[in-house]
Amino acid sequence: MEILKGIPVSPGVYIGEAFLLVGEEVRIPERFVPAEKMDSEAKRFDDACAKVGTQLDAIRGDTESQLGPNFAAILSVQTQLLRDPSLRQRILDKIRKDHYSAEYAVAKTLRDLAKVIAASDSPVIAQRASDIFDLEKRLLNDLLGEQREDLGHLQRPVALIAHDLGPSQTAALDRTKVRAFATDVGGRTSHTAILARAHEIPAVVGLETITTDVAGGETVIIDGNRGIVILRPDERTLARYRKIQQEFEAFEATLIKDKDLPSVTQDGREIHVLGNIEFPEEVRGVLQHGAQGVGLFRTEFLYLKSGVMPDENDHFEAYRKSVSKLNGRPLTVRTLDLGADKIDRNQAYSEPNPFLGLRSIRLSMKRPENFRTQVRAILRSSTLGKVRLLLPMITAIDELRWAKGVVEEVKAELAGKKVPFDEKIPVGIMVEVPSAALQAQAMARECDFLSIGTNDLVQYTLAVDRGNEHVAHLYTPAHPAVIQLIKRVVDAGLEFDKPVGMCGEMAGEPVYTILLLGLGLSELSVAPPSIPSIKRIIRTLKYSDCQSGAQEVLKMDDANQVLDYLKELARKLLPSDIRFGGI
Ligand code: PEP
Ligand code: MG
Repeated sequence: MEILKGIPVSPGVYIGEAFLLVGEEVRIPERFVPAEKMDSEAKRFDDACAKVGTQLDAIRGDTESQLGPNFAAILSVQTQLLRDPSLRQRILDKIRKDHYSAEYAVAKTLRDLAKVIAASDSPVIAQRASDIFDLEKRLLNDLLGEQREDLGHLQRPVALIAHDLGPSQTAALDRTKVRAFATDVGGRTSHTAILARAHEIPAVVGLETITTDVAGGETVIIDGNRGIVILRPDERTLARYRKIQQEFEAFEATLIKDKDLPSVTQDGREIHVLGNIEFPEEVRGVLQHGAQGVGLFRTEFLYLKSGVMPDENDHFEAYRKSVSKLNGRPLTVRTLDLGADKIDRNQAYSEPNPFLGLRSIRLSMKRPENFRTQVRAILRSSTLGKVRLLLPMITAIDELRWAKGVVEEVKAELAGKKVPFDEKIPVGIMVEVPSAALQAQAMARECDFLSIGTNDLVQYTLAVDRGNEHVAHLYTPAHPAVIQLIKRVVDAGLEFDKPVGMCGEMAGEPVYTILLLGLGLSELSVAPPSIPSIKRIIRTLKYSDCQSGAQEVLKMDDANQVLDYLKELARKLLPSDIRFGGI
């Protein structure tokens, strides 16, 4: 049994089989096999060679018929390598003489060889290293078994173990099969973590070495409440965790019972609690958890799931479906927040500093045709219910003015064609960059509502990458600088009578609810599973207590002091079961 500690990003407990998703970065652990298993280990290697050989022959045949013999010849390099007797012998020696596992023997031999070849002075020879890596991947795919081959065709429920998962990979996961996940890298507000919470999949990230510590098929416990992953648990631990799992599920069930009670404080202040979604299908879950609408629809996932830029009809259908299910409750559609931060690194599009690059509204300004298409669809859907348009990552007032200008142009175009739309559709901005928070008054004067995106606001204020486990300890919304920026935005909203909400993950963390209410926020938009507990917390509190708590926090100059104070206050003001319900 081995216990690994990481960052808890999505609550719940899962006990089950590990499915290892092997990418380029993954190291294969140095694993030994007992002497009596040597023959079967060597046979595993021989069988893998036979299967990969057949695979390569088939691919070569297909390539030849589609592209001709020259292209097919490229694949012969791998076939020759695979059938090279001296290379095979080197791998078998590692198994029989050094007692290494077949996986390790393959990885070590082929990676060592690739290194030598890559260092060659001749570029033609150096390029061949990629063939060796490719062959290694094929052999490992087979040796590690079906547990890691094709994520799209999983046969049974698994805990997915990966070095990293891109947002598009997470979006495409088969949720009926992937019941939990654990990764080497990542932070609490990485988009992968956000999706795990939305899908109610227990998840732990930032484990640094899990892909080398676990083998596919082994039993693991993923404890998303405490950020712990237990490999090869013993019987006592398994029994203990089965009990924890039942208790957690029972606790969730009691919360759900009261989900439709109003979110009004003991002294009568109403706070709107809404849900964050990535796909129209999630509206059902949002309502099942008792939300008063959708406060954030991250529409970029329409692109990320399919890999194809949505056309006007794709957009319109997504909004039509969502708004019709909402029955008059608001749908807040955020325009595409795309950039190199969300697009897979191995795709052609990359930037040295994606979070500071051509992201969100900047990309929309560079490619206005996509933005226009989306705005047209949003406007067309605006007569079907209560639709709001939200602009991501506004850093300067001219971006807001530009976007509003486009909205007006599209309105005129639709009016000309007699297509109905809501003339008064509210246009709001995400406040997720310090410059927008510092200029909140100017922004509030010109937009209809503001939504604070703390996931990015924290990252940009504190200069901490939201997805990097090495700096996760520095990433905290409790930093006084962040709290002061939030206060500034709320005050600007009050001054210009514009609603201010929060849709970053901070809004769904029970430890901050007292502070957020006290600062004057009137709308919280959170991951659907957090809705019932946040509503229950609001019902328990007095607004006046929250206000005095927030006043105390505003005097503090240290994040730890803020957090200690908020935890102490929560202990005093909230019932004991709720405090740790979603943390
Ligand atoms: C945010 O930055 O807080 C936010 C809600 O947007 P996203 O997490 O999609 O970047
Ligand atoms: Mg953001």
